[in-house]
Amino acid sequence: MLEKVLIANRGEIALRILRACRELDIKTVAVHSDADRDLKHVRLADESVCIGPASSMESYLNVPAVISAAEVTDAVGIHPGYGFLSENADFAERVAESGFVFIGPRPETIRMMGDKVAAIKAMKDAGVPCVPGSDGPLGDDDETNMRIAREIGYPIIIKASGGGGGRGMRVVHSEAALLNAISLTRAEAGAAFNNDVVYMEKFLGNPRHIEIQVLSDEHGNAIHLGERDCSMQRRHQKVIEEAPAPGIDEETRQRIGERCAKACREIGYRGAGTFEFLYEDGEFYFIEMNTRVQVEHPVTELITGVDIVKEQLLIASGEPLSYTQDDIKVQGHAMECRINAEDSETFMPSPGTITAYHAPGGPGVRVDSHIYNGYRVPPYYDSMIGKLITHGENRQVAMARMRGALSEIVIEGIRTNIPLQQELFKDSGFQAGGTNIHYLEKKLEER
Ligand code: ADP
Repeated sequence: MLEKVLIANRGEIALRILRACRELDIKTVAVHSDADRDLKHVRLADESVCIGPASSMESYLNVPAVISAAEVTDAVGIHPGYGFLSENADFAERVAESGFVFIGPRPETIRMMGDKVAAIKAMKDAGVPCVPGSDGPLGDDDETNMRIAREIGYPIIIKASGGGGGRGMRVVHSEAALLNAISLTRAEAGAAFNNDVVYMEKFLGNPRHIEIQVLSDEHGNAIHLGERDCSMQRRHQKVIEEAPAPGIDEETRQRIGERCAKACREIGYRGAGTFEFLYEDGEFYFIEMNTRVQVEHPVTELITGVDIVKEQLLIASGEPLSYTQDDIKVQGHAMECRINAEDSETFMPSPGTITAYHAPGGPGVRVDSHIYNGYRVPPYYDSMIGKLITHGENRQVAMARMRGALSEIVIEGIRTNIPLQQELFKDSGFQAGGTNIHYLEKKLEER
């Protein structure tokens, strides 16, 4: 077992990783910026190292600083959490070259999944259903590109192979706009991602976002933990997640889940990962794979009983998976609300000191958050300050518990998106289940 793990992250996920380490008797090293001395996990960790000033570029994204912190503390493994360096293949490589264990997939896997054309090809080869598209990069021949688009059928979407975070995409509704859209996207991608490879996909009008959680070890075992529905989004940012996805039956879950697990075995995947799909008219279309733990992993933990972060640590220690596919049974329903320090109407960030905090509780309520009374939310980082997660024997119970938790929680001194979450949990469309990825934006436009 890894003896000591450096947590290369901040906030709620750093605390989540620390808790998993403690359960496994792994010593912890917290690294933090100047602005983050008061983070809860920094106080709880066995050791802590300040790795730079507030700016993420100089601290949490500063590879030499993170590696040096691991060296001076004799850490064995490095857990990157999500965001920051978690999907940076060069970082994963540096970690390994410096003699540490990167808690995540091999650098080659991260690199391949960061290149969407390569990722889609690997998935297609492994039998994972993908969006009908150009089957590789678009070339320079206008006639060929027009023919590909015609064969796919408009509307189509031009996407940058190196794109991310919802950037580097352009929807095209007719042939007249095609060639211009290709050259614009290509130019933007070259400037933004230093990679001007673009490809084409069918544009799906009203899909849902459904993703499959997988775990895969170094002994050739891979399992799936079912799906999550993350369709409630604003500007490609998830707001509410749930598991299982409304309307997905057991047979469908096993069919798509097994395809993902098989793909993991074929590419020699290591660790926890997520296959993201668009889901429309009963069909799954792969869009990308995330090679890290995700914000929304707790909903899967609550319905399967599997501790995903502990499994990451065990896999990185070279242990085989603690579960076989037959051990995994979906039980009940779980919902997660992201709690952001932002205005509920304008979405402007709202950093500052939390002057009063009361956490909700009761059966089936989990709070993953680093905040406390008197904690000052710094202005430098992502505005998410925690997650409220509920579990119940069915969706109605999980929702009722979330409504209760949202009315119990008190966070004073800063503005939060809790009023928006309360509104969504009263929304009849959301209550019915199965809303698509445009639902929230449309609702916000109407108000
Ligand atoms: P990124 O890595 O930038 O997040 P993704 O490929 O995951 O890019 O796509 C981000 C979002 O863009 C999706 O969640 C979806 O809303 C939209 N999108 C991407 N591809 C398509 C498509 N073929 N049809 C419709 N919407 C799409």
